[in-house]
Amino acid sequence: MEPASMDDSMDDLRRYLCDITGCGKTFKRSGHLKRHKLVHAPAAERERYPCTQTSCSKSYSTKYDLAAHIRQVRSTAKMYNFF
Ligand SMILES: [Zn+2]
Ligand SMILES: [Zn+2]
Repeated sequence: MEPASMDDSMDDLRRYLCDITGCGKTFKRSGHLKRHKLVHAPAAERERYPCTQTSCSKSYSTKYDLAAHIRQVRSTAKMYNFF
């Protein structure tokens, strides 16, 4: 549960508006909006960084997202002593 002051947070939420017709989503940070806009991008744009691991079909729009995914996969694998 968030603390009160609903009005203030509503203000924040409307700071960054997606200008794609019919979307109108709003975000607190410009980075979030930038990231969100990828959902409007063509698949080729969205899946520029496919996971290099065998038997994994995930792909990401940025190398940072891919790196985060690989880090996560590795730490999970470590937990189960795969390495
Ligand atoms: Zn949008
Ligand atoms: Zn993967």
